[in-house]
Amino acid sequence: MYRSAGALGPSTSAPSLPARASVPSARQCARRASVCTRASASTAPGDIRSNAVLRARAEGTFRAEYVPFADIASGTVGKETYSLDDVVYRAMDGGLLDVKHDFEALAKYDAKYWKTLFDGRVGTARWPHGSGVWSKKEWVLPQISDDDIVSMFEGNSNLFWAERFGRQIGMSDLWVKQCGNSHTGSFKDLGMTVLVSQVNRLSKLRPESVQAVGCASTGDTSAALSAYCAAAGIPSIVFLPADKISLAQLVQPIANGALVLSIDTDFDGCMRLIQEVTAASPIYLANSMNSLRLEGQKTAAIEILQQFDWEVPDWLIIPGGNLGNVYAFYKGFKLARDLGLTDRLPRLVVAQARNANPLYRAYRDGWGTFAPVKAQTTFASAIQIGDPVSVHRAILALEACDGIVEEASEEELMDAAARADLTGMFNCPHTGVALAALLKLRERGVIAPSDRTVVVSTAHGLKFTQSKTAYHAAEIQGLSSRYANPPVTVREDLGSVMDAIRTKFAKL
Ligand SMILES: *Cc1c(COP(=O)(O)O)cnc(C)c1O
Repeated sequence: MYRSAGALGPSTSAPSLPARASVPSARQCARRASVCTRASASTAPGDIRSNAVLRARAEGTFRAEYVPFADIASGTVGKETYSLDDVVYRAMDGGLLDVKHDFEALAKYDAKYWKTLFDGRVGTARWPHGSGVWSKKEWVLPQISDDDIVSMFEGNSNLFWAERFGRQIGMSDLWVKQCGNSHTGSFKDLGMTVLVSQVNRLSKLRPESVQAVGCASTGDTSAALSAYCAAAGIPSIVFLPADKISLAQLVQPIANGALVLSIDTDFDGCMRLIQEVTAASPIYLANSMNSLRLEGQKTAAIEILQQFDWEVPDWLIIPGGNLGNVYAFYKGFKLARDLGLTDRLPRLVVAQARNANPLYRAYRDGWGTFAPVKAQTTFASAIQIGDPVSVHRAILALEACDGIVEEASEEELMDAAARADLTGMFNCPHTGVALAALLKLRERGVIAPSDRTVVVSTAHGLKFTQSKTAYHAAEIQGLSSRYANPPVTVREDLGSVMDAIRTKFAKL
């Protein structure tokens, strides 16, 4: 355990990932020499040579392909498989696909090999392994050439020790994985680097079938898609529900040059349209039905394990909408366990907004039947989804790890975000949903005081300043804004200023 005795303060026990590499010329430098100056200074020549041999051997060995998700779920080895170079989103029976890795090939290397390999890449400027996603390339997309990868060195996000918030709610081992501290401000970057890299490869292999990439989005997917496409010079098209996403989310694809279609419907309506459009034209579909994205997202699970020195947390709480991310986390934890790097899975909790809670309803009814709902407006706009594409993936993940689904009302999610903000975070409403779920599970005693618990923060709070500002101005109808901290307007006058200070801090 890295939090050693005698080093209990938050600064000395901070998670062990070094600062994010931000050398501007890392990519060029890495491409020229394959090893950057910073790395070569600390690496013996023998290591470089043997690593190169191992890598060359490894790259020819590892493989992944698409198989029907139904085969994964039933544990059967079916005949239906597709190359990752095929443009295919659905299995023959219309079900989802899944990326399946050649497990035997991966299992030829022991746990120690993988841990050393992955740990050794963290924080380097080497292309593409300086990325938190591509540092696990062999487990993600082993067959792609490094030259086809489109990366912004995403991932490697910090794990925030929520020491003070934890103490307030009677917990001693609470953490927030800041997946929203990322290039476009949400965890969607983790999946999009994989999808756009594969599209980049396909656009060279078969330009006639892939000329642009499109997605329907509740905001963050389109931001990530348009940024990665702009970096690669690939045209992107995004379908957004009119007036249902934040201004910050809307301006991102606009700035990155995407074709932005604002459509007078909800997310589910946009999703139906984009599927029809991509079926009829050489536009590649980037939605999370597309299983490539989950391969990138699953690296956040492996990253958390690394940050805990390969110890498995007891709980992981994830805000869920389309429900791909919970399955991605499960895939990451499962692969690490199956390859012997860890010995168990954490219990996963999906947190849903009460206004868009179809999974919660199904869970409450004992998984009897799943019924889509018409999602109502929620401040957690990225999870305002009534008919989640990945519902069966999510149910499989939750059943495998004795998972739980919890829900949060608008007041609960905004209060939870604001309360945790008072301990130094700056939470988006989705993270608020996860924090509200944590509070409920803690109150009910489901999560014990000393359980090591990770809350997944999915987006940066700065993308959601409109609703946070409205909360602190106590302008939201039906909400009491318990934790509001509005600015105090004072005259330019010492007496007024001192009055204001003493009103807040009686001791001064
Ligand atoms: C996409 C998104 C989610 C939901 O992820 P799913 O995989 O659709 O469940 C949650 N929070 C934020 C901020 C998102 O952008």
